[in-house]
Amino acid sequence: MSELNTKIYKQDDDSGIAKAVKALQSDGLVAFPTETVYGLGANALKEDAAAKIYAAKGRPSDNPLIVHIADTKAVYDLASEVPETATMLMEAFWPGPLTIILPKKNIVPDGTTGGLKTVAIRMPSHPVALSLIKESGLYIAAPSANTSGRPSPTEASHVAEDMMGKIDVILDGGAVGIGIESTIVDLTGDIPTILRPGFITKSMLEKIVGPVKIDPALINPDPSLRPKAPGMKYTHYAPKGELTIVEDKNQTKATTSDKVISLINQLTSEKEAEGYKVAVIASEDNAPLYTCNHILIAGDSSKGETVAAKLYAILRKCDSLEVEYIYSEAFNKGELGSAIMNRLLKAAGQRVIQV
Ligand code: AMP
Ligand code: MG
Repeated sequence: MSELNTKIYKQDDDSGIAKAVKALQSDGLVAFPTETVYGLGANALKEDAAAKIYAAKGRPSDNPLIVHIADTKAVYDLASEVPETATMLMEAFWPGPLTIILPKKNIVPDGTTGGLKTVAIRMPSHPVALSLIKESGLYIAAPSANTSGRPSPTEASHVAEDMMGKIDVILDGGAVGIGIESTIVDLTGDIPTILRPGFITKSMLEKIVGPVKIDPALINPDPSLRPKAPGMKYTHYAPKGELTIVEDKNQTKATTSDKVISLINQLTSEKEAEGYKVAVIASEDNAPLYTCNHILIAGDSSKGETVAAKLYAILRKCDSLEVEYIYSEAFNKGELGSAIMNRLLKAAGQRVIQV
């Protein structure tokens, strides 16, 4: 693939949006902020344009893309069936961090859905994402704008790290608000099923549509269960150093136990004594209790949204510091606990020490 001259524009620069619209209309690639993470967009209805996303990210071709829209009417263009659960969820959570899976119409190419007969659709709430979709007049396929396997980008500089020379435009909207990807709900079966946990939780969904299931492959570590969202089977978010989560299995409150803190201190001092560069991922409240040289503060453990907002930037920071071993507290309490731990466990390759 020949090197492109990637241009970066601030979100309030109107000429940037105009350039981005033009790039999308010519089947090019544009990275843009959404409220969850930065997306890497292309025309969703053109197979050749979508193919460029896979090439730029090094993404496996069976991992389908989410189609971003700016008007609920678009759902009826893209999906062959729209059940009542879909209209209820659209009404309740769009624009916002919820993706719905529906049977696809033929206009959506197999190249966008990884060969699946279903399509993933979301209406983002970020104003830059919405203007890009509206002004281009297109539906925009957009996975996260990172190299496949790396942490998703939550700032334009993260996108630039991975995508310079590979895409046409980066729109810089500063740090995103939520920081983890959208909740994905499959509406093609009898009961709505969560395929990827996110900011919209199971209980929020159940208030609108009644009982909701969780894809068993998300909770059961049995590798023979195949997740229904193909992307969930891949290693993800992994920093270059070896990440281990240290968890107190009897812990009930958000506050991390003394046992966890002392084990992390013991492990980091052993590794530092052996000459390794080591980091700890800690909640704000515990950070002063660690002795390690590099302490990365993830937010307030009792407020999951503060942890979600910082998690990917911290995993990238581990790489820029070139740390070789990383120990993290578990952030499994509260409404966002399962969404955060889903990402952290993947980043750790499921490596957990229980105390
Ligand atoms: P990303 O946008 O990088 O967060 O990745 C999109 C996620 O949506 C991946 O995990 C995909 O596997 C999932 N996805 C997209 N389309 C579908 C679909 N039709 N059925 C199930 N999962 C999907
Ligand atoms: Mg992704």
